[in-house]
Amino acid sequence: MKKLSIGLRLTLWYLAIFALGQIVFGAGMWLILRHNLYDLIDDGLEAQVDDLKNFLASQKPDASLAKLKEEVDEAYAIEHPGDYLEIHAENGELIYRSAFLKEHPLTVAPPPRGHEAIFRNRRFDHRPFRFMLLTLEASSHSYTIAMGAPADDVAETLTLFRFYLLLFAPLLLLVAAGGGYWLSRRALSPVDALVQSAREISGTNLSRRLQKLSTGDELQRLSDTLNEMLGRIEAAFQRIAQFTADASHELRTPVSLIRTEAELALRRSRGEDEYKESLRHILSEAERTTALIEQLLALARSDSGHETLQMQPVDLSAILRSVVNGWTQVATIRNLQFTANIDAHDSFVMGDDGMLRRVADVLLDNAFKYTPLSGSVSLSLEKKGESAWITVQDSGPGIAEQDLSRIFERFYRVDKARSRAQGGVGLGLAIAEWIVTQHRGSITVKSVPGHGATFHVQLPMLAAPVPNPQPA
Ligand code: ADP
Repeated sequence: MKKLSIGLRLTLWYLAIFALGQIVFGAGMWLILRHNLYDLIDDGLEAQVDDLKNFLASQKPDASLAKLKEEVDEAYAIEHPGDYLEIHAENGELIYRSAFLKEHPLTVAPPPRGHEAIFRNRRFDHRPFRFMLLTLEASSHSYTIAMGAPADDVAETLTLFRFYLLLFAPLLLLVAAGGGYWLSRRALSPVDALVQSAREISGTNLSRRLQKLSTGDELQRLSDTLNEMLGRIEAAFQRIAQFTADASHELRTPVSLIRTEAELALRRSRGEDEYKESLRHILSEAERTTALIEQLLALARSDSGHETLQMQPVDLSAILRSVVNGWTQVATIRNLQFTANIDAHDSFVMGDDGMLRRVADVLLDNAFKYTPLSGSVSLSLEKKGESAWITVQDSGPGIAEQDLSRIFERFYRVDKARSRAQGGVGLGLAIAEWIVTQHRGSITVKSVPGHGATFHVQLPMLAAPVPNPQPA
């Protein structure tokens, strides 16, 4: 079933509440009016009863009942207050009953002696009446009295009131419904504008934004937030597009090199040594391409969030010692002075063994790549507070100030030709930074051009030493 629009739902709710309010208000007013009108009649009845009491009190206490009947007849039979009057003596004997009550007997018993008067409504011949019933004391006798009065005015006023109420309530409701719908449409019209502009945005025009609202309310906040979100999506799109373009470019270079090498080799027949040399070139380019593809895959996996790290307590000192072993041989071959200072034992961190190795490899690989022969490279591990600090320092050319903040960007290389000649594509530090961030750590670089570069990796250590450390 199709849901009603917010505007319509708001109007219906508004109507329901308004109608309920009208019912409560109308019923309340009707009851108050009724109460006040009957109060007026009751006041009149009380005044008449007071007169009657005075009259009874003025009778001699020892006067006979017959005498009293005569007196009452004389005083009330032709007078208006006697039209709806009934008086009984203490013993129940009737003293007076008006002609009207003879025809329309009252069936209500008056309250016993000492009790408050009671008021009752009665209808005779389709006319409303109000009666006051009480037992009163006068001249040391007690009498039960029923004194009545017609209540046509009250009934008429109440009927009229109800008529106008029922006449105007639906009209008011109609006006309220129209007003409510108009108001809700007006309040929600910016939503339509937002929907319209949102429909026009797609992957090809992500620089467009939703209509800017200046309503200063929730809708403006919504449009601002959606626009900020669009900004982030656009930036992410651009990053992906840039990454794809850079990756294709990087992949094209080795592939065309392999092709050229093969074409040249096949152009004419060559000796075995020449073929071997060509194949060696092809092999080294193929290895470089494989490494590049691996790095691209690692970054793509990290972007998609599918790269899951195997986090467990690992001893950083053990990992670094094993990494250093591999690089010591390279240092000898490349005639570099390589020192490792891993005094800090049992530096346990929550981490992925393979990924942490990769970080150390990236930093050492760069240091070895960019440091000229006879230069020096050092790696150290220190514990400071609750952190483990890995420092990789070299005596290479260093990095210029303006490049320092950019070397962690993907495909960024200070000197493209040189970096490529040394096998770099500009992804190593981007991968290292991602891994360190996943370990809730940080990676920073300091360098004075011409005086080498120093990379610091900070990783949070585990509070308590782990009894059975994983072998690194
Ligand atoms: P690459 O694979 O090109 O080394 P990286 O992401 O590891 O890519 O490094 C990015 C760039 O930062 C390198 O191309 C290089 O210009 C610069 N760089 C990194 N480490 C060093 C270093 N130790 N000394 C000098 N330059 C460095």
